[in-house]
Amino acid sequence: MLLKIVMKKGRALILLSYWLSVFGGNSQAPPARATGGTKAAAARPDIILITIDTLRSDRLGCYGYSSADTPNIDRLAAGGIRFKTTVAQVPLTLPSHATILTGALPTVHGVRDNVGYKLGPEQRTLAELLKSAGYRTAAFVGSYVLNSRVGLNQGFDRYDDVPLGSSSGVVNLNELERPAADVIDKTIDWLKTARATPFFVWVHLYDPHDPYRPPEPFAARFKSRPYDGEVGYCDQQIGRLTAFLKNQGLYDRSAMVLTSDHGESFGEHQEFTHGMFLYDTTLLVPLIIKPALNFSLAREVPSQVSTVDIFPTVLEIANVGVPPKIAGHSLLGAMQGRETGVSEAYSETYYPAQFGWSPLRAVRRAGTKYIEAPKAELYNLRRDPGELRNLHSQQPELAAGMKQRLTSIAGAPAKPGTGKVSIVDPEEFERLAALGYVSGPRPSVSQSSAQLADPKDKLHIFQLISRAGQAAANGQCAAAIPLLEQVLREERGMAAAHLLLGRCRYNEERFELARSDFEKVLARSPDDPQALFFVAACDYYLKRLPAAEAGFRRLLSKEPGYLPAQKYLGFVYEAKGEIPRAIVEFQRASLLAPRDEECHLKLGFLLARQSRFQEAASHFREALAINPGNAATHYNLGLAYLKNDDREHAESELAEACRLDQKFCKPNR
Ligand SMILES: [Zn+2]
Repeated sequence: MLLKIVMKKGRALILLSYWLSVFGGNSQAPPARATGGTKAAAARPDIILITIDTLRSDRLGCYGYSSADTPNIDRLAAGGIRFKTTVAQVPLTLPSHATILTGALPTVHGVRDNVGYKLGPEQRTLAELLKSAGYRTAAFVGSYVLNSRVGLNQGFDRYDDVPLGSSSGVVNLNELERPAADVIDKTIDWLKTARATPFFVWVHLYDPHDPYRPPEPFAARFKSRPYDGEVGYCDQQIGRLTAFLKNQGLYDRSAMVLTSDHGESFGEHQEFTHGMFLYDTTLLVPLIIKPALNFSLAREVPSQVSTVDIFPTVLEIANVGVPPKIAGHSLLGAMQGRETGVSEAYSETYYPAQFGWSPLRAVRRAGTKYIEAPKAELYNLRRDPGELRNLHSQQPELAAGMKQRLTSIAGAPAKPGTGKVSIVDPEEFERLAALGYVSGPRPSVSQSSAQLADPKDKLHIFQLISRAGQAAANGQCAAAIPLLEQVLREERGMAAAHLLLGRCRYNEERFELARSDFEKVLARSPDDPQALFFVAACDYYLKRLPAAEAGFRRLLSKEPGYLPAQKYLGFVYEAKGEIPRAIVEFQRASLLAPRDEECHLKLGFLLARQSRFQEAASHFREALAINPGNAATHYNLGLAYLKNDDREHAESELAEACRLDQKFCKPNR
């Protein structure tokens, strides 16, 4: 939406059709795979990690759900080991996967939420360790939330993700996720190229995440239970993968791990999806491990384990040394029928902090859970598995003991906003809202948890703002605005609501109003990059160019790599008629994002205005390398060649522009 406005306000011939990078699926015939001896296979088995997003363990047949249609996962469990109780460390996609892939708690890897965090390069991932042990590594992920920008790609030879969606207007959900069939197709294509070296492949299926829209025939069969339909569809696709592995003789020598990042609440505790609370509805996930051949099995592991344990378990399966001081414990002993000896699980969610509310932390033992919150909770899970009767005031000693354990596992609670916070691109805000993750401004570190509200008391507001966020991301600001106004009547000054309201008004080009919303965000979070950006952008559209210039400069002094601000500084100088300065700013932007088509188009256009046609042509060529189908760029390049007296190249570019779009067919020279 941001760039849609730029397009409307910008000069002619700057087309902003963003090129979606195409996945490079390997279409070559598969080379014959050398069949390693059984001994070698046992030493370094192939490893397949499957994470099915948002999968509650109790929705699978092998976990006792009688209405399930999950024959393939059930077969995997029947041939492997099923862990009865597996606790996810965070009920959010990115931090939970960061834990699975690093074996570290979020207190250590620092990724606390889906929005604004990136896994640091100092973290050692499963893929990095397996790669250095000689594994070929690949990941195929189903959601934009795990796009390579968040750093989980470390160590993967190939990281096949969902690229940035187009910036052509309303966020399209279909651009932010891809169906399991596509992910499995890509995985199978890659596996066809597998050679003698062992491989590690991570497959992420996003389908069960809301909205629940299974494809046919699952949509018809599960009309009243679309979530189960999504799970059934994922199961079918896993069946395709296992059938391929069996056909290729890879199944027996592969270790397979199937799990999820978190569950789903379906209205229990008045939570409908996941992320706000730490109840079992969103923390209990399946864990099934099918080892490679010749492994003595325990069919079911009854004791509680955690998803953080997957990391050391996979390393031991691969005969790769487990780094010291990691949080997880290898489950290999439990898989061989020995006791695990570990029965405590730590979980946390910082999602409430997006709204200015208290983060939550919990520790879970087999029969007891303690949730640290402004109003702390204690549950007897044996008698009360639904976590409906808070025993905190009745059993203060037990609660105090659990709290102490929590602190010894995870230390004192981190203040919201600390950790490896990264910049949130204004467009990313919308993409994530379309996926159901509304985000607020960067939380203020000065607030102590004691002053923050308990998310339990804010459910009504949370539901309103979630609905508003999704409506806004879908371009329905008319529906979103009254919801946000209601939120602000009930929760005065809530920065996340002002941010969304400002975005809506900005997109409707009501810049004065929008600006006042962003100013209200800054009143609470003075350094929030999004609000700083939008105040300056509003000034730009309100033609207060000196204020806009100062605003973008201030933001860039705080966040030097913030691409949208860097580009807008170029727009400001262009609007002021200071073309050489505009060129310098767009050159800086282009250094930040060499594959940004818009930067090259702008540079081509501005350099041409300065009669620097050779340099202009070079930028138009760069833009075409990114988006060869842009007729206007071919046309502009043709004109630049003409100015350079390069008739031959000019004719060919102009002809291509005409072939792509007939409005460029009339000679205009
Ligand atoms: Zn998820």
